[in-house]
Amino acid sequence: MRMVRRVLIIDLDVHQGDGTADIFAHDTSVFTLSLHSEKNYPVRKKASTLDVPLEDGMEDDEYLSILEDTLKRVLTTFKADLVFFNAGVDPHHDDRLGRLALSDEGLRKREELVFKLVRNEGLPLAGVLGGGYSYNLRLLVNRHSNLYRVAAKYL
Ligand SMILES: [Zn+2]
Repeated sequence: MRMVRRVLIIDLDVHQGDGTADIFAHDTSVFTLSLHSEKNYPVRKKASTLDVPLEDGMEDDEYLSILEDTLKRVLTTFKADLVFFNAGVDPHHDDRLGRLALSDEGLRKREELVFKLVRNEGLPLAGVLGGGYSYNLRLLVNRHSNLYRVAAKYL
């Protein structure tokens, strides 16, 4: 018996999830969702199941609103058995390779939102670290740590 038939990949790294999009391009059992900076790397993007390109300089409220609407829609229409979450912190306004303008608080709210929506569906969620290119390691580690702080609330 296969315990996992359908997988959702939520890729919130600021760069498009072109790798998973390409790998699972012809596999309808895997839904690849990517919210990313439209003008950022890679220049030639692969087609995810759902791509949400975002404008330069987007801040917390608009980003979180788009994420909430999108993720609710995806969770309703695609019945996943397992969810992976790429929690790249490079959408931060200080990131060298981002182009978006999320704050530390915005990124923490992002992790909260993903966990809340996915876990409310009763789905298992595996979060992984993604990009993050700040020179200030203390701040960078703190941003990545939010994933685990939020996850710990759902143990
Ligand atoms: Zn990235």
